[in-house]
Amino acid sequence: MTQVSYLGVGSNLGDRKKNIRRALSLLKAGGIKIEKISRIYETKSQGGPAQGKYLNAALKIKTSLPPFSLLKYLKKIEKDMGREKTVRFGPRTIDLDILLYAGKTIKKKGLVVPHPRMFERDFVLRPLREII
Ligand code: ADP
Ligand code: MG
Repeated sequence: MTQVSYLGVGSNLGDRKKNIRRALSLLKAGGIKIEKISRIYETKSQGGPAQGKYLNAALKIKTSLPPFSLLKYLKKIEKDMGREKTVRFGPRTIDLDILLYAGKTIKKKGLVVPHPRMFERDFVLRPLREII
């Protein structure tokens, strides 16, 4: 069964726009259908160490992957694109988050949906509002 989910995407290292485009094509390559893409916003980083500005966008997708498989695939993309774990909320080539998944509430170790920090993050809510 296919489900609708909303993803947040962000980048603040390297060629940020190219990173977002690459993430989109890797999502498609994994069989994920991209239904809508918000505008891309440039935002100051919030929390974490001092770092460069982000480009952020939100996506509406359709997928047959259940939530944890989707998260696993997002983490694989992050890894393949050279995201390195440094400090929490530190700079990253690509960040892919599950904001919403099929109207569900999930509270598991490693996966919380709706994304717990999205409601306090303008850089998530602004693009999300455009496509929801
Ligand atoms: P953030 O996206 O908040 O800046 P990270 O990308 O470093 O932080 O994610 C840290 C961890 O958050 C991930 O390893 C993942 O297991 C967990 N996590 C919990 N809920 C979610 C979610 N809805 N989407 C993405 N990651 C999540
Ligand atoms: Mg993340």
